[in-house]
Amino acid sequence: MNKFCQGPKCHTYMTTDRKRGIKGDKYFQTRTVNSYGYGDNNFCTTICLGDWWAKHGTRAIDHFGRLHNPIRLIQENAWIKDYDYIGNGDHTHYFLNKLTNERIPLTLAQYDDNDYTLERARQT
Ligand SMILES: [Zn+2]
Repeated sequence: MNKFCQGPKCHTYMTTDRKRGIKGDKYFQTRTVNSYGYGDNNFCTTICLGDWWAKHGTRAIDHFGRLHNPIRLIQENAWIKDYDYIGNGDHTHYFLNKLTNERIPLTLAQYDDNDYTLERARQT
């Protein structure tokens, strides 16, 4: 079954791939969404996603719950893996806390290992 773009103005973008019908009875129609779709595979382009948003976005937020206070990302959750270039093709790797600037050194292998977490780094 075809999954159609949900953009409310998709059919108004007069591209040849939207053109259908026979001579004397031609029309433009909504595109289907392929596996490269946008907005969780519901739209053919970011333009169609934006059109939907312009029409329904505010009501959607009010329906699912509007944010009335800012969300905070606290110090404990502000860690990332990062690196610096130190010359001669070399880098130094570390965990970095983006709020406190605290650093925990990492080897390249630890940096590349997605299972090497902050908790593991703290245990060593
Ligand atoms: Zn579309």
